[in-house]
Amino acid sequence: MLTTAPRGTKDILPSEIENWRYVEAAMRRICAQFGYKEIRTPVFEHTELFKRGIGDTTDVVEKEMYTFTDRGERSITLRPENTASAVRAFCEHKMYAEPAPTKLFYIGPMFRYDRPQAGRYRQFHQFGIEALGVDSPAIDAEAILLAVTILKELGLKDLHLKINSVGCSKCRPQHRAKLQDYFRPHLEGMCNDCKSRFERNPLRLLDCKVPHDHELAAGAPSLEECLCDECREHFEGVKRLLTAAGVDFEVDNTLVRGLDYYTKTAFEIQYVPLGAQSAVCGGGRYDGLVKEIGGQDVSGIGFAMGMERILLALESQNLLPEHKDGIDAFIVCPNQANFEAAFKTAIALRQAGLKTEFDFLARSMKAQMKQAGRLNARFAVIFGDDELARGAVTLKNMAESTQTEIPVDDTVTILQTEVQKYE
Ligand code: AMP
Repeated sequence: MLTTAPRGTKDILPSEIENWRYVEAAMRRICAQFGYKEIRTPVFEHTELFKRGIGDTTDVVEKEMYTFTDRGERSITLRPENTASAVRAFCEHKMYAEPAPTKLFYIGPMFRYDRPQAGRYRQFHQFGIEALGVDSPAIDAEAILLAVTILKELGLKDLHLKINSVGCSKCRPQHRAKLQDYFRPHLEGMCNDCKSRFERNPLRLLDCKVPHDHELAAGAPSLEECLCDECREHFEGVKRLLTAAGVDFEVDNTLVRGLDYYTKTAFEIQYVPLGAQSAVCGGGRYDGLVKEIGGQDVSGIGFAMGMERILLALESQNLLPEHKDGIDAFIVCPNQANFEAAFKTAIALRQAGLKTEFDFLARSMKAQMKQAGRLNARFAVIFGDDELARGAVTLKNMAESTQTEIPVDDTVTILQTEVQKYE
C-alpha cells in the first residue's frame, strides 16, 4: 500500500519524461505562433468557483471533485479543469483592461474522481487555451485550428473533428422547453441523475451515459432548429472559416459537452484508434462565464487536450522520437587513493558545461568501464596509477575504442574540443 501510488494516479518516470517534454515543446511552439501566452494558476481554488463556473448539475461537480475543508474552514477543491481558474485570474488581474483578445495557455495536472481505465485517470494533465474578449467566429476558428495544428504537427492522422452550436441564453429556453416535452413521458424509466436534472438543466440529459437514457437522447429535439439568428450566423461563420482553412469537420447536433458554461460553438476532436477514450480534445465558447463568476460581460473560447491520451496515441503509432541520452565523460578511477584528483576533475568538467559522471561505489576498473558504457558516455577519462605518475590520464573514445594519454591538467580543454566535434 505504502509503495503503491493512489488509484487513478501514476508516476511519470525519467524514461518517459522526454516524451512529455517533446509534446509540451510542440504545444509551446505552436502557441507562440498563434500568440498565446502561458499562465500557471493554483492547483486548488475555492469550491464555489467550480460550482458556479462548471455548473452544479454536471457530473464533474456533482460526482468528481476532490473537495475538502482546509484548516481555516474554507471549502477547497483540487481543480478538475483549468478554464474556471484562468477566467478567475483574468478577472483578478484585470486582464480585460489590456486590448482584446487575451490569449492564454496552460499545461498542468487536473483532478477528477473518475472511474480509472486506460486513458482515464484521477490525476491527469491537460494542455489548454483560453481566448477572452472577442465575439467574432474568427477566434473560434483560430482556436480549433490551433488544436488541429498541434495534433497534426505531432503526426497524428485519423483525427475526427466534430462541431456543434449549443446556442445562447436567448435560444436555449425554447430548446429546453422542447427537451422537457420530449423527455417528460419517459422520465419514470430514466436514471436518478436525469430525474433530478430534468427540471434544473434538461440539456444535461443529452449527456447521460446510461445506455437506455443515451439511446433516448439520440432522438431528442435538436438544438439546431431552435438557434437564434445570431447563433446561427456565428455558427455559419465558424464553418466558413474552417472550410477556408482546409480543416475537415463534421457537424454533430448531439454534441453538448459535459460542462455547463458552453455557449454557441462546442467541439471535440477524437482520435478514433484510441477506442473508448478517444476524445483527445474538447472545447467551446463560454460567453456567460466571466460574468457568472463575478466579472464583466466578456466572451471567451477555449479547449483542453488530455496529455496522457495524446501520448498514448503517439506511442501506439510509433510517433515519439527516439531520445538517446548520454553523457560526455565518465571518470574511471580504480584506485581510491586517486579519488580526490578524479573528483576535482569531474567538478571542473561539469563547470565547463560537460555532462560528467563518476563512480561512487569503489567498483573495479572493469565494472567502472561497464558503467561508462551503460551511461552511454562519449569518453572515459581513466585515472590509472601509471599515467598519473606521469601527470597524465587516459582518454578513451568509447564509440571508436581508441585511446590517448593527455596531461591531467589539460583534461577540461581537450575534452571540450573533443566533445564539440560531435555536436
Ligand atoms: P474536458 O475538460 O472534460 O472537456 O476534457 C478535455 C480533455 O481532457 C478530454 O478530451 C480528454 O482528452 C482529457 N480528459 C478529461 N478527463 C480525463 C481523465 N479523467 N483522464 C485523462 N484525460 C482526461
